[in-house]
Amino acid sequence: MEEAQEHFEESLDKFLKRRYQHVRIPVIPPKSKYLQMCARVLRGKAKTKTIELSPSDYLFLRKYDVALRDGQERLVEAVLLQPMAIQPRVGKIYLYKEEIFDTLHKAHIETGHGNADDVMRHLKPYQNVTINIVHMFLKYCKECTENTWKEELPIKENNVCQIGLIDMHEHPDRQYKHIFVFRDNSTKFILLYPLVGTSTEIVAKVLLDIFTIFGAPSELMCDNMELTGNTIQELGGLWPELKDISLKFQKLDEQLLDVKDSLMSWIKDKKSSKWSEGLRQLQLRMNGTNHSDLSCSPYEAMFGRKLNVDNGEKKSTIEAVCSQKDDFKKNIECNNNNDLM
Ligand SMILES: [Zn+2]
Repeated sequence: MEEAQEHFEESLDKFLKRRYQHVRIPVIPPKSKYLQMCARVLRGKAKTKTIELSPSDYLFLRKYDVALRDGQERLVEAVLLQPMAIQPRVGKIYLYKEEIFDTLHKAHIETGHGNADDVMRHLKPYQNVTINIVHMFLKYCKECTENTWKEELPIKENNVCQIGLIDMHEHPDRQYKHIFVFRDNSTKFILLYPLVGTSTEIVAKVLLDIFTIFGAPSELMCDNMELTGNTIQELGGLWPELKDISLKFQKLDEQLLDVKDSLMSWIKDKKSSKWSEGLRQLQLRMNGTNHSDLSCSPYEAMFGRKLNVDNGEKKSTIEAVCSQKDDFKKNIECNNNNDLM
């Protein structure tokens, strides 16, 4: 929430600067300026004759007034007296910058996460909130954006995944000499496994593990057609319900080959040859970092929520923990769970 407020206020500042750069009196003044404006109104009103007012003060008072609202002195829109009016119109309240977010948030919640029009109707008593500002605010409502995001997510009939092997023969970690890479292509979610060998039996076991969690793809891209073909056949024996999977040749791309470089840096940094221990952390970092094709992280694309790393009471997103390769290298911790494979 605090983070959303910060981002919103930043955008609001930029918007106001761009839109109202030639306006002398800020449309949404900061509180200090707001109080000065109230004082200027009160000073002007204290003068008994219009003639005592400077032309600029005179114009200021045609626009602004101060009135008690809910027991508070507020800057309000000046309402010119209309002698024939049965009921004088009540001047709308000006909001100051520091209260905009809370006011919008309250209106949005009270309208049941209402859309921009609902929120605008709710904000009728206020003078200086425009529909643009409401739209800007709505972008920062996590619940609303997550819902739209889910609605807009295309339902793909073909689920395409990619697998590949990275040879680590030159840098074996005990019995491990390969890394098995799996990627779901629509979400870019990846899984990394250290392998002791590349027999169809070993690869089939890994794929069975993955497919029984995420479901089997309809198309599998691979860098070794023979091995994958045999593996799928083997898998059919282990899992008779498995539907047909079509295979297509595709070499691992740079992002996936990066795994090797990252592990090489890790080995150098840790002065350890046990790269299999760094593999899970690398997997977590890759899934938790925003992907250029997605505008979110693979983890978010897969699960529809941010990845949180639980450090006891303190929770932070993985980006904050290890967004940089360097941070990753420093923060990496040994994790022996990979030894299971
Ligand atoms: Zn909302």
